[in-house]
Amino acid sequence: MPLEKEDIEAKIPYQYPMPKDAAPEIVVPSAIPEDERIWVPQAENVCFRPLCLNVSQGYWMNLLRVRKSGVLSRHRHPNAVHGYVIKGRWHYLEHDWVAEEGGYVYEPPGETHTLVVPDDVDEMITFFQVNGIMYYVDPYGNHLGYEDVFTKIDMCRKHYEEVGLGADYVDQFIR
Ligand code: FE
Repeated sequence: MPLEKEDIEAKIPYQYPMPKDAAPEIVVPSAIPEDERIWVPQAENVCFRPLCLNVSQGYWMNLLRVRKSGVLSRHRHPNAVHGYVIKGRWHYLEHDWVAEEGGYVYEPPGETHTLVVPDDVDEMITFFQVNGIMYYVDPYGNHLGYEDVFTKIDMCRKHYEEVGLGADYVDQFIR
């Protein structure tokens, strides 16, 4: 039976170049890396693995890995956050739901919450898209500090330099 025109066309790649101003794609073969040095420490037993550090739109995609239990941080989000739990489990003091392995969480702008990893979880890994900033606060909303895509990049540069990957190792994740 002769192939229909649509069947043939279905297998033809797009015939034109990408827009001249489009940034190159990022392809990370092992999002959970083999090389431990790729994890950037941010507190004792807490580290992140950068995937996309988007300086043009002010957000970052990263894996957060926690190997301790208890309260991690209290923070406010002026912008939305998306999370996908790859391993373990966590919750917020302010909500009665639990983010479980395989689950997805949307954190709306305006949320202030206190992240807790339960005692029976040895390791938690969550894929987060954080937009804008993480604004760290005390229980009464007083400002303690912040992180944005630029402070994340600085942390990566410093760490990658120290572990011998070179400060510019982070450049592949910046768009
Ligand atoms: Fe949060």
